[in-house]
Amino acid sequence: MRSVLRFLGGVGTVTGSKFLLDQAEGGRILLDCGLFQGQRELRRRNWAQFPFAADSVSSVILSHAHLDHCGYLPALVRQGFTGPVHTTPRTADLVAIVLRDSAHLMADEAANANANGWSKHVPALPLYDEKDVARALDLIVTTEQGVADVDGARLRMHRAGHILGSSWVELTLAGGTRLVHTGDLGRAAHPLLRPPEPFEGADVLLVESTYGNRRHDDATTMRDLADAITRTIDRGGSVLIPAFAVDRTEVILYRLRELRQAGLVPPVPVYVDSPMGLAARDVYLEAIAAGADELRPGLTADTLDPSWVRELRTAEESETVNHPAEPSIVISASGMASGGRVLHHLARFLPDPRMSVLIVGFAALGTRARALVDGAPSVKIHGRYVPVRAEIVDLPGFSVHADADEMIAWLSTAVRPPSVTYVVHGEPAAARTLRDRIDAELGWHAVVPKQDEHVLLGEEQ
Ligand SMILES: [Zn+2]
Repeated sequence: MRSVLRFLGGVGTVTGSKFLLDQAEGGRILLDCGLFQGQRELRRRNWAQFPFAADSVSSVILSHAHLDHCGYLPALVRQGFTGPVHTTPRTADLVAIVLRDSAHLMADEAANANANGWSKHVPALPLYDEKDVARALDLIVTTEQGVADVDGARLRMHRAGHILGSSWVELTLAGGTRLVHTGDLGRAAHPLLRPPEPFEGADVLLVESTYGNRRHDDATTMRDLADAITRTIDRGGSVLIPAFAVDRTEVILYRLRELRQAGLVPPVPVYVDSPMGLAARDVYLEAIAAGADELRPGLTADTLDPSWVRELRTAEESETVNHPAEPSIVISASGMASGGRVLHHLARFLPDPRMSVLIVGFAALGTRARALVDGAPSVKIHGRYVPVRAEIVDLPGFSVHADADEMIAWLSTAVRPPSVTYVVHGEPAAARTLRDRIDAELGWHAVVPKQDEHVLLGEEQ
């Protein structure tokens, strides 16, 4: 029998990452357990039964705490998965915040659907609830020094520099085949995290391709951010920044502090309206206090917690910045405006031409953030269309994913080419472009797999 790799998500899309490894000798390991997000036909896949008996999966390995990599775990647990979930200690801390918030949003959505009669299912139910999340969190086993024996394979987790705790994952199977999964690979320019650990090679490689056809321009990004804030404040408006709670909120605070210190933006009030963003920031602050190795040297508590930040924790506090009394900056989740408190701010900000909405980082197809970037004249929020008259500023350079040049540079340190490289976690054009570059510039055999496809691992005998 041969080992088999199955692509259950994260192909043709940046969401739903799930790669199932059936080992010839050893157990069935699931690499990442992500939720599909964005387009309706993608989200619908979350509701399909897991294609194998959930209790036949012996373990899960999580690369990092973003929902598109860990958000399906409680659903897998609900279907009977009881095995260990291996990850790093800081990913474990952040996963707890992310999954609890996810269950909370799902409960809200179901309640809304029931109140307004939107669902075809009566009553509408959440995909999972807090109890499933609690059971999932109980299964997490953190790896000492990133090394563990997992169902007959040897696991090593290497720093990925994408968000706190993030890893690229190396698995050496019993027969010696070495499989590497990049998860989401970070970039050298991350202001808080050290760059990804170098790649030494693999027999089989899964590489992400979120920005497989793009380049980041950091100098332009900072200038565009400063200019957008300044011109909005000058015309008496306020700035809304939808931001992922984990990492993006922290990076934005860091950048705003830099711009304020350099006198490049006016010193207006800055609100963080995201209990989850504040909780995630606490995990970053703990890491700073502990002198965590994955952080850049020289960070202090003040870096992420400057005195001018105003924290909004309750729903009542949140509503006070729907109509800020003076020009302000409001940072709120979710990052792609698919849910959360940012929705009621958008409903107030978007119709007002004095306001600006800044889209910082990747906006997946089918999300409101993407619709705004693509120039939609109106977007639907809580069942009503809202006109878009505010200024929309796209700042994709805020991404914490390696761009195409950085990815090629990271791959090129391999001592020998993988026998095959699977290009995953990218929308189709991005995945194809990165595949072509890997082929042309590195001379490697690269393939863009299809959803639900399976392939054999190891050399032909
Ligand atoms: Zn990620």
